[in-house]
Amino acid sequence: MHINGEWVEARSGEKREIINPFNQEVIAVVTEGNRADTVEAIEAARKAFDAGQWSKFTAAQRGSLLFKVAEEIRNDREELAKLETLNTGKTLVESLADMDGIADVFQYYAGLADKDGGQMIESPNPDSVSRVVREPVGVCSQITPWNYPLLQASWKLAPALAAGNTIVIKPSEITPLTTIHMMKIFERVGFPAGVINIVLGPGATVGQEMAESHLVDLVSFTGGGVSGRKVMQAAAGNFKKIALELGGKNPNIVFADADFDTAVDYALNAVFFHAGQVCSAGARLLVQDDIHDKFVSAVIEQAKKIKLGDGMDEATQMGPVISKEHLAKVEHYIDLGKQEGASLVLGGKRPTQESLQKGLFIEPTIFTDCHGDMKVVQEESFGPIMTIERFSTEEEAVALANDTIYGLAGAVWTSDMNRAERVVKALRMGTTWINDYHPYFPQAPWGGYKQSGIGRELSHIGLEEYTEIKHIYTNTNPQPMRWFQ
Ligand code: NAD
Repeated sequence: MHINGEWVEARSGEKREIINPFNQEVIAVVTEGNRADTVEAIEAARKAFDAGQWSKFTAAQRGSLLFKVAEEIRNDREELAKLETLNTGKTLVESLADMDGIADVFQYYAGLADKDGGQMIESPNPDSVSRVVREPVGVCSQITPWNYPLLQASWKLAPALAAGNTIVIKPSEITPLTTIHMMKIFERVGFPAGVINIVLGPGATVGQEMAESHLVDLVSFTGGGVSGRKVMQAAAGNFKKIALELGGKNPNIVFADADFDTAVDYALNAVFFHAGQVCSAGARLLVQDDIHDKFVSAVIEQAKKIKLGDGMDEATQMGPVISKEHLAKVEHYIDLGKQEGASLVLGGKRPTQESLQKGLFIEPTIFTDCHGDMKVVQEESFGPIMTIERFSTEEEAVALANDTIYGLAGAVWTSDMNRAERVVKALRMGTTWINDYHPYFPQAPWGGYKQSGIGRELSHIGLEEYTEIKHIYTNTNPQPMRWFQ
């Protein structure tokens, strides 16, 4: 852990083994913090914010540091990507793309750091000057998940640092390695002690303290709804600001007039990318009646060819799921789909190849004959499970797509652009794609409607979330008021 500028072990001396999900081998042993360590990190961040040299950094100087971080990430790209693949099982190609995205996020916020010069506003009083400025919120707790360990961390760290906050960050206890490496980069580029502190350990103790502490001004959390609710409740103690990036069960809507081959190709990518462990996975495929059977057959044929294996192997297209617990959860949803009467047309089991037996693999799985009232359709399995529903009209497609507690993302495939616009306008989701699936970049905001979250990350909006707004009013001709005379 890194607290107040020092690399430290947990006071308790406890350790945790970090596992490679491809073969379940131990790849590292890290220290395991608890509440006492977390309190120390929060106090360090508080001190660095209230009294440290960090507050003297200009926005341009903070931006320069972030540019250096982007450069260092590009220098360490291969090493970081390998570490991410070893720890998560995702393919090296995906991890390399993550690292490029992470460098881009730091570069984007480096450039944005000094661009908000505040705003003059027209005061109703002639002898006055009135302006609005943005200031850092203060101490920020940042809690990240295991599916995109460093990417999700970068979406929080870069804007928070650009805005001048201090930070305590906790990666998922099972995927801390790249965040630890990132801390070395922060040290290398010269952030003052206490500005960024990393604490390792479980959500129930370390994460809970980060959400509860009255020394913290903002908590930003990415993860599942169960933990998200606890974070929100814990944050209520001192009404700290909250940002929640939660789950999704995202519709991918294909109309009969879509470019057939491209839509089939992306339908697979939407859900089987990173073995379905993507918050915006298009796990819920909606296909129009006229092409339903042909489309489903084509999707099944292509999904059969997906090559499972070691993320480090170039030929691998899909890796394992992250942990034994998560595998059990995915298998539970497969059982549920069968019980609910959906037709299992592909996968649904662990692969039989000898080379995959030590890994936490599950075959790409497809259910047809699905309905909106099935749990396998409504709940987030977060695994390689696609459910397919059919629809006949545009109204029906929109109604099905919106029939969910979530609102993170969704896509529509059609060659009729007027229809595409009508459909995305009707979707209650934070990100919508027309004839595409999955693109995201630092310039565009990311976040969910409904139970997919509160607030937005990325873009200038992601920076604003890490700021307080101050109105400064100057009386340019002060005179006695004599109200009480
Ligand atoms: P999780 O909720 O189990 O854990 C996320 C983080 O929260 C971990 O660091 C964990 O230690 C911590 N945590 C757990 N309980 C806590 C508590 N009581 N207080 C404070 N912190 C606590 O989620 P996960 O399994 O790591 O990640 C998968 C989930 O994340 C999925 O639901 C996925 O959709 C969601 N996710 C959302 C986005 C998004 O942008 N909306 C991105 C990635 C993942």
